[in-house]
Amino acid sequence: MTGRVALITGGSRGIGRAIAERLARDGFDIAITYARNADAARSVTDAAEKLGRKALAIQSDSGNLENNEALVGKVVKGLGRLDVLVCNAGAYPYGGPDEMKLEDITRTLDLNLRGVIVESVAAARVIPKGGRIILIGSAFGERVPVPGISIYAATKAGLVGFAKGLARDLGPKGITVNVIQPGPIDTELNPADGAASDALRAQLAIPAYGEVSDVADLVGFVASERASYITGTALSVDGGLTA
Ligand code: NDP
Repeated sequence: MTGRVALITGGSRGIGRAIAERLARDGFDIAITYARNADAARSVTDAAEKLGRKALAIQSDSGNLENNEALVGKVVKGLGRLDVLVCNAGAYPYGGPDEMKLEDITRTLDLNLRGVIVESVAAARVIPKGGRIILIGSAFGERVPVPGISIYAATKAGLVGFAKGLARDLGPKGITVNVIQPGPIDTELNPADGAASDALRAQLAIPAYGEVSDVADLVGFVASERASYITGTALSVDGGLTA
Protein backbone atom coordinates (compact mmCIF):
# COMPACT_ATOMS: atom_id res chain seq x y z
CA MET A 1 0.00 0.00 0.00
CA THR A 2 3.05 2.25 -0.11
CA GLY A 3 2.29 5.70 -1.49
CA ARG A 4 -1.43 5.40 -0.83
CA VAL A 5 -3.19 7.73 1.60
CA ALA A 6 -5.86 6.97 4.20
CA LEU A 7 -7.89 9.54 6.13
CA ILE A 8 -9.33 8.41 9.46
CA THR A 9 -11.69 10.75 11.29
CA GLY A 10 -11.43 10.62 15.07
CA GLY A 11 -8.00 8.99 14.89
CA SER A 12 -6.49 10.24 18.15
CA ARG A 13 -8.07 7.69 20.50
CA GLY A 14 -10.03 4.45 20.67
CA ILE A 15 -11.05 2.56 17.56
CA GLY A 16 -9.92 5.33 15.17
CA ARG A 17 -6.43 5.35 16.64
CA ALA A 18 -6.13 1.57 16.24
CA ILE A 19 -7.30 1.89 12.61
CA ALA A 20 -4.72 4.61 11.92
CA GLU A 21 -1.97 2.47 13.46
CA ARG A 22 -3.09 -0.61 11.49
CA LEU A 23 -3.19 1.25 8.15
CA ALA A 24 0.20 2.88 8.82
CA ARG A 25 1.65 -0.59 9.50
CA ASP A 26 0.05 -1.77 6.24
CA GLY A 27 1.97 0.93 4.35
CA PHE A 28 -0.50 3.81 4.07
CA ASP A 29 0.42 7.42 4.65
CA ILE A 30 -2.20 8.63 7.10
CA ALA A 31 -4.19 11.73 7.92
CA ILE A 32 -6.21 11.72 11.13
CA THR A 33 -8.66 14.19 12.56
CA TYR A 34 -9.33 14.89 16.19
CA ALA A 35 -11.64 17.17 18.16
CA ARG A 36 -9.68 18.36 21.21
CA ASN A 37 -6.82 16.02 21.97
CA ALA A 38 -3.85 17.43 20.02
CA ASP A 39 -1.21 15.57 22.07
CA ALA A 40 -2.83 12.20 21.48
CA ALA A 41 -3.18 12.98 17.77
CA ARG A 42 0.49 13.93 17.57
CA SER A 43 1.54 10.65 19.20
CA VAL A 44 -0.30 8.78 16.41
CA THR A 45 1.38 10.77 13.62
CA ASP A 46 4.79 10.52 15.34
CA ALA A 47 4.46 6.72 15.47
CA ALA A 48 3.48 6.58 11.78
CA GLU A 49 6.44 8.76 10.82
CA LYS A 50 8.76 6.40 12.74
CA LEU A 51 7.51 3.68 10.37
CA GLY A 52 8.55 5.88 7.43
CA ARG A 53 5.04 7.06 6.57
CA LYS A 54 3.89 10.59 5.92
CA ALA A 55 1.35 11.63 8.53
CA LEU A 56 -0.92 14.59 9.16
CA ALA A 57 -3.10 15.47 12.17
CA ILE A 58 -5.94 17.90 11.52
CA GLN A 59 -8.13 19.48 14.19
CA SER A 60 -11.59 19.29 12.62
CA ASP A 61 -15.02 18.93 14.20
CA SER A 62 -16.71 16.18 12.20
CA GLY A 63 -20.07 17.54 13.36
CA ASN A 64 -19.44 20.78 11.46
CA LEU A 65 -20.58 20.21 7.89
CA GLU A 66 -18.50 23.02 6.36
CA ASN A 67 -15.37 21.62 8.03
CA ASN A 68 -16.17 18.26 6.50
CA GLU A 69 -16.42 19.68 2.98
CA ALA A 70 -13.00 21.33 3.39
CA LEU A 71 -11.32 18.33 5.06
CA VAL A 72 -10.73 16.23 1.95
CA GLY A 73 -9.07 19.20 0.22
CA LYS A 74 -6.71 19.64 3.19
CA VAL A 75 -5.65 16.00 3.00
CA VAL A 76 -5.04 16.11 -0.75
CA LYS A 77 -3.08 19.34 -0.32
CA GLY A 78 -1.00 17.90 2.54
CA LEU A 79 -0.40 14.33 1.34
CA GLY A 80 -1.00 14.57 -2.41
CA ARG A 81 -3.97 12.19 -2.82
CA LEU A 82 -6.67 10.25 -0.99
CA ASP A 83 -7.32 6.52 -1.46
CA VAL A 84 -9.17 5.38 1.65
CA LEU A 85 -11.64 7.31 3.80
CA VAL A 86 -12.57 5.85 7.19
CA CYS A 87 -15.40 7.79 8.84
CA ASN A 88 -14.98 6.83 12.48
CA ALA A 89 -15.62 9.93 14.63
CA GLY A 90 -18.90 9.55 16.44
CA ALA A 91 -20.81 10.25 19.64
CA TYR A 92 -22.87 7.85 21.74
CA PRO A 93 -25.48 9.90 23.57
CA TYR A 94 -27.64 8.01 26.03
CA GLY A 95 -31.19 8.94 26.91
CA GLY A 96 -34.84 8.21 26.29
CA PRO A 97 -37.44 10.56 24.81
CA ASP A 98 -37.86 12.44 28.12
CA GLU A 99 -34.16 13.30 28.31
CA MET A 100 -33.18 13.98 24.69
CA LYS A 101 -33.11 17.69 23.86
CA LEU A 102 -33.37 19.05 20.33
CA GLU A 103 -29.69 20.08 20.45
CA ASP A 104 -28.65 16.51 21.39
CA ILE A 105 -30.63 15.11 18.48
CA THR A 106 -29.23 17.65 16.00
CA ARG A 107 -25.66 17.23 17.22
CA THR A 108 -25.80 13.43 16.99
CA LEU A 109 -27.30 13.49 13.51
CA ASP A 110 -24.69 16.03 12.35
CA LEU A 111 -21.71 14.10 13.73
CA ASN A 112 -22.75 10.48 13.17
CA LEU A 113 -24.68 10.77 9.90
CA ARG A 114 -24.82 14.12 8.08
CA GLY A 115 -21.10 14.76 8.58
CA VAL A 116 -20.25 11.28 7.30
CA ILE A 117 -22.36 11.87 4.19
CA VAL A 118 -20.64 15.19 3.47
CA GLU A 119 -17.15 13.71 3.99
CA SER A 120 -17.93 10.69 1.82
CA VAL A 121 -19.37 12.72 -1.04
CA ALA A 122 -16.34 15.03 -0.99
CA ALA A 123 -14.00 12.01 -0.92
CA ALA A 124 -15.87 10.25 -3.74
CA ARG A 125 -14.91 13.10 -6.05
CA VAL A 126 -11.16 12.54 -5.56
CA ILE A 127 -10.64 8.88 -4.61
CA PRO A 128 -9.20 6.94 -7.58
CA LYS A 129 -9.95 3.41 -8.84
CA GLY A 130 -9.21 0.84 -6.14
CA GLY A 131 -10.22 3.27 -3.41
CA ARG A 132 -12.32 2.56 -0.35
CA ILE A 133 -14.94 4.36 1.72
CA ILE A 134 -15.39 2.64 5.08
CA LEU A 135 -17.99 3.85 7.56
CA ILE A 136 -17.84 2.81 11.22
CA GLY A 137 -21.43 2.01 12.08
CA SER A 138 -22.59 -0.07 15.03
CA ALA A 139 -24.28 -3.36 15.80
CA PHE A 140 -27.00 -1.08 17.22
CA GLY A 141 -27.70 0.03 13.64
CA GLU A 142 -29.05 -3.49 13.12
CA ARG A 143 -30.36 -4.58 16.52
CA VAL A 144 -31.27 -2.37 19.48
CA PRO A 145 -31.27 -4.64 22.54
CA VAL A 146 -31.38 -1.94 25.27
CA PRO A 147 -33.35 1.30 25.79
CA GLY A 148 -31.88 4.84 25.61
CA ILE A 149 -30.05 4.66 22.29
CA SER A 150 -32.73 5.37 19.68
CA ILE A 151 -31.04 8.45 18.18
CA TYR A 152 -27.66 6.71 18.05
CA ALA A 153 -29.24 3.64 16.44
CA ALA A 154 -31.00 5.82 13.87
CA THR A 155 -27.73 7.41 12.78
CA LYS A 156 -25.90 4.09 12.51
CA ALA A 157 -28.78 2.45 10.59
CA GLY A 158 -28.78 5.48 8.27
CA LEU A 159 -25.14 4.80 7.38
CA VAL A 160 -26.09 1.42 5.94
CA GLY A 161 -28.64 2.86 3.50
CA PHE A 162 -26.20 5.56 2.48
CA ALA A 163 -23.38 3.05 1.92
CA LYS A 164 -25.58 0.81 -0.21
CA GLY A 165 -26.55 3.76 -2.43
CA LEU A 166 -23.04 5.15 -2.70
CA ALA A 167 -21.69 1.68 -3.52
CA ARG A 168 -24.02 1.69 -6.55
CA ASP A 169 -22.73 5.12 -7.58
CA LEU A 170 -19.05 4.26 -7.19
CA GLY A 171 -18.92 0.58 -8.18
CA PRO A 172 -18.34 1.37 -11.87
CA LYS A 173 -15.34 3.48 -10.83
CA GLY A 174 -13.77 0.58 -8.91
CA ILE A 175 -14.37 2.16 -5.49
CA THR A 176 -16.02 0.14 -2.72
CA VAL A 177 -18.23 1.48 0.08
CA ASN A 178 -18.95 -0.55 3.20
CA VAL A 179 -20.06 -0.20 6.82
CA ILE A 180 -18.27 -1.99 9.64
CA GLN A 181 -20.54 -2.63 12.62
CA PRO A 182 -18.71 -3.17 15.93
CA GLY A 183 -20.32 -4.55 19.04
CA PRO A 184 -19.14 -3.36 22.48
CA ILE A 185 -15.46 -2.39 22.16
CA ASP A 186 -13.50 -1.32 25.23
CA THR A 187 -12.79 2.42 24.76
CA GLU A 188 -13.37 5.65 26.68
CA LEU A 189 -16.72 5.93 24.84
CA ASN A 190 -17.86 2.48 26.07
CA PRO A 191 -15.58 1.17 28.84
CA ALA A 192 -15.71 -2.54 29.61
CA ASP A 193 -16.24 -1.62 33.29
CA GLY A 194 -18.88 1.07 32.56
CA ALA A 195 -22.36 1.30 34.06
CA ALA A 196 -24.07 -0.39 31.09
CA SER A 197 -21.39 -2.99 30.39
CA ASP A 198 -23.02 -5.97 32.14
CA ALA A 199 -26.30 -5.34 30.28
CA LEU A 200 -24.40 -5.32 26.98
CA ARG A 201 -22.32 -8.40 27.79
CA ALA A 202 -25.57 -10.26 28.46
CA GLN A 203 -26.56 -9.66 24.82
CA LEU A 204 -23.43 -11.23 23.31
CA ALA A 205 -22.73 -14.73 22.04
CA ILE A 206 -19.13 -14.25 23.26
CA PRO A 207 -19.80 -12.58 26.62
CA ALA A 208 -16.85 -10.19 26.61
CA TYR A 209 -16.00 -6.76 25.21
CA GLY A 210 -13.97 -6.64 22.03
CA GLU A 211 -10.67 -4.82 21.62
CA VAL A 212 -9.95 -1.94 19.25
CA SER A 213 -7.68 -4.25 17.22
CA ASP A 214 -10.71 -6.47 16.43
CA VAL A 215 -12.20 -3.59 14.46
CA ALA A 216 -8.90 -2.28 13.08
CA ASP A 217 -7.98 -5.69 11.64
CA LEU A 218 -11.27 -5.87 9.72
CA VAL A 219 -10.80 -2.32 8.44
CA GLY A 220 -7.28 -3.26 7.34
CA PHE A 221 -8.69 -6.15 5.31
CA VAL A 222 -11.50 -4.09 3.74
CA ALA A 223 -8.96 -1.38 2.84
CA SER A 224 -6.72 -3.93 1.12
CA GLU A 225 -6.77 -5.10 -2.50
CA ARG A 226 -8.01 -8.50 -1.27
CA ALA A 227 -11.43 -6.97 -0.50
CA SER A 228 -12.06 -5.52 -3.96
CA TYR A 229 -15.30 -7.53 -4.51
CA ILE A 230 -16.91 -6.56 -1.17
CA THR A 231 -19.16 -3.51 -1.50
CA GLY A 232 -22.50 -2.10 -0.39
CA THR A 233 -22.66 -4.24 2.71
CA ALA A 234 -22.42 -4.13 6.49
CA LEU A 235 -19.79 -6.34 8.10
CA SER A 236 -20.21 -7.23 11.79
CA VAL A 237 -17.45 -7.55 14.36
CA ASP A 238 -19.74 -7.70 17.35
CA GLY A 239 -19.16 -10.80 19.51
CA GLY A 240 -22.47 -12.13 18.21
CA LEU A 241 -24.67 -9.26 19.41
CA THR A 242 -26.73 -9.51 16.23
CA ALA A 243 -26.78 -13.32 16.14
P1 NDP B 1 -13.78 7.32 21.58
O1 NDP B 1 -14.68 8.28 22.27
O2 NDP B 1 -12.93 6.41 22.39
O3 NDP B 1 -12.84 8.12 20.55
C1 NDP B 1 -13.44 9.10 19.76
C2 NDP B 1 -12.45 9.66 18.76
O4 NDP B 1 -13.20 10.54 17.90
C3 NDP B 1 -11.36 10.48 19.36
O5 NDP B 1 -10.25 10.41 18.51
C4 NDP B 1 -11.96 11.89 19.37
O6 NDP B 1 -11.00 12.95 19.30
C5 NDP B 1 -12.72 11.86 18.05
N1 NDP B 1 -13.86 12.77 18.03
C6 NDP B 1 -14.87 12.86 18.94
N2 NDP B 1 -15.73 13.81 18.56
C7 NDP B 1 -15.24 14.33 17.40
C8 NDP B 1 -15.65 15.36 16.53
N3 NDP B 1 -16.76 16.06 16.77
N4 NDP B 1 -14.89 15.63 15.44
C9 NDP B 1 -13.75 14.94 15.18
N5 NDP B 1 -13.31 13.96 15.97
C10 NDP B 1 -14.05 13.66 17.06
O7 NDP B 1 -14.78 6.48 20.62
P2 NDP B 1 -14.68 4.97 20.08
O8 NDP B 1 -13.33 4.71 19.58
O9 NDP B 1 -15.28 4.05 21.07
O10 NDP B 1 -15.74 5.02 18.86
C11 NDP B 1 -15.33 5.31 17.54
C12 NDP B 1 -16.48 4.99 16.60
O11 NDP B 1 -16.88 3.64 16.75
C13 NDP B 1 -17.75 5.83 16.81
O12 NDP B 1 -18.33 6.15 15.57
C14 NDP B 1 -18.65 4.88 17.58
O13 NDP B 1 -20.02 5.18 17.39
C15 NDP B 1 -18.28 3.56 16.95
N6 NDP B 1 -18.60 2.41 17.79
C16 NDP B 1 -18.00 2.24 19.00
C17 NDP B 1 -18.32 1.16 19.79
C18 NDP B 1 -17.73 0.93 21.12
O14 NDP B 1 -18.25 0.05 21.85
N7 NDP B 1 -16.68 1.62 21.52
C19 NDP B 1 -19.31 0.16 19.32
C20 NDP B 1 -19.87 0.43 18.02
C21 NDP B 1 -19.50 1.52 17.30
P3 NDP B 1 -10.37 13.63 20.65
O15 NDP B 1 -9.33 12.68 21.14
O16 NDP B 1 -9.79 14.92 20.16
O17 NDP B 1 -11.50 13.81 21.61
